[in-house]
Amino acid sequence: MRKRVAVLGSTGSIGCQALEVIQCHSADYKVEVLTARKNKDLLIKQALQFVPGHVVISEESLYTEVRDALAGFPISVHAGNQALEEIATLESVNIVLVAMVGFAGLLPTISAIKSEKALALANKETLVVAGELITKYAQQHGVTIVPVDSEHSAIFQCLTGEQQNLPEKIFLTASGGPFRGKKRHELESVTRKEALKHPNWSMGEKITIDSATLMNKGLEVIEAHWLFNLLPQQIEVIVHPQSVIHSMVQFKDGSIKAQMGLPDMRLPIQYALTYPLRLESSFPRFSFMDFPKLTFEKPDLSLFRNLELAYNALEKGGNMPCIMNAANEMVVDAFLNDRVRFLDIPEIIERVMESLPLMKKPSLEDLLQSDSEARAFTQRLLRGGDGLKI
Ligand code: NAD
Ligand code: MG
Repeated sequence: MRKRVAVLGSTGSIGCQALEVIQCHSADYKVEVLTARKNKDLLIKQALQFVPGHVVISEESLYTEVRDALAGFPISVHAGNQALEEIATLESVNIVLVAMVGFAGLLPTISAIKSEKALALANKETLVVAGELITKYAQQHGVTIVPVDSEHSAIFQCLTGEQQNLPEKIFLTASGGPFRGKKRHELESVTRKEALKHPNWSMGEKITIDSATLMNKGLEVIEAHWLFNLLPQQIEVIVHPQSVIHSMVQFKDGSIKAQMGLPDMRLPIQYALTYPLRLESSFPRFSFMDFPKLTFEKPDLSLFRNLELAYNALEKGGNMPCIMNAANEMVVDAFLNDRVRFLDIPEIIERVMESLPLMKKPSLEDLLQSDSEARAFTQRLLRGGDGLKI
């Protein structure tokens, strides 16, 4: 029996690469669900190619167009956010790959866990916002969360077979992004276009900006805390500009295991879909001779303050990472629309974190509310000027 995969966010960077992987292993895997927010043309094209049982377009106003384009095919077309939650629970789905970006991934991920689907999780924001609840539900339902994020996939791979050996610490590697080594005055006027030029990875816009501000690494620290049950001081971020060591685990005897490879997301995507097996692949192979020098640096926390903000949010706990995430999503969107400057990003996030009340043990409803309050507050700051707007 082929494993049937729901690809949530199939039109994005991870989603498209996941379809490539599934295509290469079509004897063992089949696409059962495709979803997109508003890229109807690509969604329709993917649906015509893969003929999944179900397609969801989140933007309800696009429903009729998608339905009409797929009329005559054995494909059910759905629309809206509620449909995303329901689609993750379908009997016909074996594996849910959550490749949507942002807070929107939270509720479909919870649905998938509660329906005891195998879960391949690319959406890091889910664990940042609600790591405690997600890991609790996963434990209750016997679901292993297999991370797709390359660093966490690396740690997960290093820990496979080490069930009896707790890690002493982990090293999360960071490329440093397009502005590594820059001075403050050089960052004052960087543009959206410059921030979107990632040196090693081609990814969606939001995560690319997060990589430039180092918020991506901050989100990953929180993601690692929940996935691997580590204290903040057991998670060290090191800048490794070549991006070939995807991350490392140090055990109590001092031994360090690293997972390496070319920066190619298809590898962690494939591993998450096929775990605990490794299937063959024809992806380009790594050559040590192409990388005669691997280098390492400390991250510049005074300039890339988002990483420190994320450690602070993790220390505070409760709803603080959720507040930070909401503020970050709003500010990144504002930066992508040329409404704030690059260096304003951490200033605004910090202001939101300082202004909203900490709740130590938030329920899911509390988190949904914290998210909307933080968004509304950030919106007010963005509208209000306060010297923050260009
Ligand atoms: P992307 O922007 O390229 O794609 C996002 C996908 O989610 C699209 O299909 C889009 O239609 C859908 N989507 C966006 N907002 C939505 C909403 N509100 N409701 C429903 N669907 C929505 O993003 P990406 O780069 O593929 O990243 C996806 C996730 O994977 C992110 O959480 C990111 O942090 C994580 N991730 C990505 C990479 C990478 O290489 N791209 C690496 C590691 C982790
Ligand atoms: Mg990553």
